[in-house]
Amino acid sequence: MTQLKEGAWALIVHGGAKPDDPAEHEANRDGILEAIAAGRAVLEGGGDAVDAVVASIATMEALPVFNAGRGSAPNEAGGIEMCSGLMDGRNLAVGAVGAIRCVAHPVEVARSLLPEKEVLLVADGALEFARAKGHEAVPEGFLKADKPARAEAVHDTVGAVALDGGGNIAAGTSTGGLDGQKVGRIGDSPMPGLGYYADNHIGGVAFSGDGETIARLALASRVMARLEDGEAPEPAIAQVLARLPGTGGADADGGGICITKDGTLGWAHNSPIFAVAYMTHEMDTPKAFLRKDEEQK
Ligand code: ASP
Repeated sequence: MTQLKEGAWALIVHGGAKPDDPAEHEANRDGILEAIAAGRAVLEGGGDAVDAVVASIATMEALPVFNAGRGSAPNEAGGIEMCSGLMDGRNLAVGAVGAIRCVAHPVEVARSLLPEKEVLLVADGALEFARAKGHEAVPEGFLKADKPARAEAVHDTVGAVALDGGGNIAAGTSTGGLDGQKVGRIGDSPMPGLGYYADNHIGGVAFSGDGETIARLALASRVMARLEDGEAPEPAIAQVLARLPGTGGADADGGGICITKDGTLGWAHNSPIFAVAYMTHEMDTPKAFLRKDEEQK
């Protein structure tokens, strides 16, 4: 954990809670570092937390190694339906899309919805909104990037939380959902209070993991409540994640990232892998890890 001075910036990103596949370690590490570079450029240039989160997430959406945007997991009908959520801690504005098809960057569509009254648009309505806002259509084949065959079904999400120099916090997620999920299925990722949340008075959080169980536990809300009570981010995330298996079964695991209003970074996971990178204004280079125990070495 890192303590920042007032007015400083911080950025933390994750590439998903998932099974360990050594063949993908390098691509995960490179991808989260690329995401940090994109968000860092925004924050160093004096840009705001929302734009930094969008830049980091859009970078990961373009990389097939992550289950978001290009590289999303197909549903039971072989189609690609994606979800993304974005929250601005300044005014609690939320923009989110669920089960959206044929866009390269769901997070940019969520960004377009942020100033609107609506919090969440789904399926055809989300696509229609994306077109109206000028988001380019991409063929489904583009999103189905070649992925190596896996022993276990794919599911993961990318996420980012940023604190800008003005003290604003933003959080966001993007996911292709679960491999073979029902058509129209939406998990925690586009839902504020479940897969992410941001409030300048408290902090910001973003999660990946078993979406239905995260939803049932309202994971992000629970962690925010603990942060508001003054708990440090890592125990707050770890203790809430510890409830996943007991609620959703032995396979229900996940991971979460956080920045508090005073710039304390934290992350925890109970999945085999949770690729996380972070950087603050006080660091010369970002740090990247695939598991918590790598950071503690
Ligand atoms: N939470 C995502 C979902 O349920 C999947 C994941 O992060 O593993 O769609």
